[in-house]
Amino acid sequence: MLGPVILAASRSDRLRRVVSAAPVTKPVVNRFIPGESVDQIVPIIVDATSKGLELTMDVVGEDITTPEQAAAARDAYLELIEHLKALDLGTRAEMSVKLSMFGQALEGGHELALSNVRPVVEAAAAIGTTVTLDAEDHTTLDSMFAIHEELRKDFPQTGCVIQAYLFRTEDDARRLAAAGSRVRVVKGAYKEPASVAYQEKPEIDKAYIRVLRILMEGDGYPMVGSHDPRIVEIAQELARRAGRKPGDFEFQMLYGIRTEEHVRLAREGHRMRVYTAYGTDWYGYFMRRLAEKPANLLFFLRSVLTK
Ligand code: FAD
Repeated sequence: MLGPVILAASRSDRLRRVVSAAPVTKPVVNRFIPGESVDQIVPIIVDATSKGLELTMDVVGEDITTPEQAAAARDAYLELIEHLKALDLGTRAEMSVKLSMFGQALEGGHELALSNVRPVVEAAAAIGTTVTLDAEDHTTLDSMFAIHEELRKDFPQTGCVIQAYLFRTEDDARRLAAAGSRVRVVKGAYKEPASVAYQEKPEIDKAYIRVLRILMEGDGYPMVGSHDPRIVEIAQELARRAGRKPGDFEFQMLYGIRTEEHVRLAREGHRMRVYTAYGTDWYGYFMRRLAEKPANLLFFLRSVLTK
């Protein structure tokens, strides 16, 4: 019940200001967003990759309001890529981007987002890695898929995300499950109306498995974005049935969530990629993590109340 309330709060500017300014918030935020600058994040990248984990890096930020902010988002990724170049990690460290941070919601936003994301994708390719386009709320997806298709003409390894809770997603999965594609499937983290999305967890879980089966049976490269132990088990079974070996698909989980499972799956020989977010504009990302597990909110409130 709390999840939708927290998701609504994630869009409130007033709460954003209050929560972001409160000093007690920091330690709780750090569990999910382990740094604010690229210098703080480089040691985390080095540590994770030395343990056999792979990464997808997210510079947090979304819903920007000016083209200058969109250009700054692009530059933040370009700065990250400069640091990754020095680490020479190839696809062990890729990038995840939210097109809203690149200007997608502004006037002329589709073209603006494409023109801002293209140099990032180019720079990533130049150091031997790639970019995945995150999925945001359902109103943005046609534009995201069109940008994905456009980028893939020159950079076929560019990935995208599909959300199992949306009714449209099985069709998207069929379209995308083609040779050379990289597709992350997740349950979905936004507050969506009943006209476009399943609302109950059992329905969402069943939809996830249907979508995952399509990806596993297809010719692309599935990226299983979930912490759900049942999904992890079913993914391995679907992969086995589809004749896929570890390395023909990968698991992805968020930094700070089920951390021992990251290491366990990597030790079993799976590709395990940790989605690692950093930056100063962490409010929206942080609130979605609270919404996914109300116990996180209690932990957060307890740390506020005991200060
Ligand atoms: P759930 O059934 O929600 O959780 C299963 C178990 O995982 C829980 O019981 C709990 O033990 C643990 N868990 C899950 N979430 C949390 C949490 N926040 N804190 C602590 N424990 C938790 N969503 C999008 O809409 N667009 C995206 O582009 C996107 N990218 C993602 C990338 C990755 C790599 C991952 C892992 C998720 C991404 N998500 C994205 C979020 C996703 O949609 C879900 O909201 C999130 O993963 C929770 O769903 P779950 O599959 O882990 O299953």
